[in-house]
Amino acid sequence: MQNLDTDVVIVGSGIVGATLACALLQQGIQVTLIEAKPLPTTTDKKTKPEQQIDPIDPRTFALTRASERILTKLGLWNLIMSQGVSPFREIHVWDANGSGEIHFDSATLVEPNLGYIVEQSVLQSALTTRLAEFKTLTYYRPAKVQYFHLTTNQAAMQVYLDNNQQLTTRLLVGAEGAHSPTRHLAGIPYKLLDHGQQAIVATVQTEYPHQETAWQRFLITGPLAFLPLANPYTSSIVWSIDTPLAQHLMKLDKIDFHQELEQAFAAKLGKIIASSERVAFPLQSRYVLNYVQPRLALVGDAAHTILPLAGQGLNLGLLDAAALSEVILTAQAQRKDFGRYQELRRYERWRKSDNLAMLKAMDSFKYLFSTSSLPLSWARHVGLSFVDVATPIKQLIMRQAMGLSNHLPSLAQS
Ligand SMILES: Cc1cc2nc3c(=O)[nH]c(=O)nc-3n(C[C@H](O)[C@H](O)[C@H](O)COP(=O)(O)OP(=O)(O)OC[C@H]3O[C@@H](n4cnc5c(N)ncnc54)[C@H](O)[C@@H]3O)c2cc1C
Repeated sequence: MQNLDTDVVIVGSGIVGATLACALLQQGIQVTLIEAKPLPTTTDKKTKPEQQIDPIDPRTFALTRASERILTKLGLWNLIMSQGVSPFREIHVWDANGSGEIHFDSATLVEPNLGYIVEQSVLQSALTTRLAEFKTLTYYRPAKVQYFHLTTNQAAMQVYLDNNQQLTTRLLVGAEGAHSPTRHLAGIPYKLLDHGQQAIVATVQTEYPHQETAWQRFLITGPLAFLPLANPYTSSIVWSIDTPLAQHLMKLDKIDFHQELEQAFAAKLGKIIASSERVAFPLQSRYVLNYVQPRLALVGDAAHTILPLAGQGLNLGLLDAAALSEVILTAQAQRKDFGRYQELRRYERWRKSDNLAMLKAMDSFKYLFSTSSLPLSWARHVGLSFVDVATPIKQLIMRQAMGLSNHLPSLAQS
């Protein structure tokens, strides 16, 4: 068995883990990245490795201004923009049951847009390209962690991989998403709320252009969102719906699915002309009790899983990556050991309250919009209509949605 000494080991090179790696490598910290999935292969020989995409992940993300700033400062934003992404300038939310509706426009904030819709494959390929520029990165892929333990003097974490590699590190970071094995092996407890729903994701072509607007219709069965992509007639849909109904929709042929979708969306963008393959994601909220232990930290979905209602999960994860890298670099600059519990607690205190507030807001939002009880339905109608005319409240919500209102890490500041 070989042994490698490395400053930080990050397990999971999804968008959050890879972003954290870039933030640390850019400042001269040695990073070892471990990813379970092999690099996707393609039959197109002309495609460069960095352009290879994961064909089974059709998710798109509504990225906030805070995320845009993080990705810009890490040299990723130009790589992302060069692949074609769509800004969204407006958000329209309306309630299928009553007459409540709310409309957000970037012009009222004197901003060019409210954010960007970026496909998962675009983000992941930009990260792969950027990571390849760091000569100090050690990358094990495909590989998994089998187990780990603190050294007897607690000055390092000893990590054992399934490829016989052994690593000694000052900090082990779990970034493997919602089902994080690092969290599991560390025995960190969490509370799970299974919503009994699934989100159906697909790309669709519509009769009318999307007008660079993110549309969301709240049905009693769950919300349906149309997010604008680079082509003006193409949107990414996220349709959250009870599991039995989702299973039924997944089985429909395209013609029947298009009809159901058109009806659920009140044909806001006209007919559905074409659609991609559909993928369904189970909807769960996961509240993790501790983000850190001595020489161990969790980031992204490993630390918190929230409903995709307002498209905030990845944005929170990117803020985790920015905050943890800041805590590490500050400790390093002060000649402190960044893997010590006292240092890592700064990261936990910083991010846990923000993430929990968003998790609770999304769960309450879902409850408010998925009930037909008269008082709540009335509150929903009055609430939406009130917020729609109350400019200061609307501006506050928009700033929050753009990720601009909390104590931001310096990577997310302008
Ligand atoms: C339908 C849907 C729509 C969404 N829309 C939005 C949106 O608009 N905006 C937004 O901000 N968020 C959105 N989210 C949330 C977002 O998808 C997640 O918050 C985000 O992808 C989490 O990123 P991550 O890197 O933490 O985890 P993941 O994306 O889950 O990545 C984890 C990585 O770890 C790897 N891995 C797993 N196990 C191991 C192991 N044992 N060893 C090594 N590697 C491992 C995986 O292969 C993967 O590469 C949405 C979620 C869903 C389900």
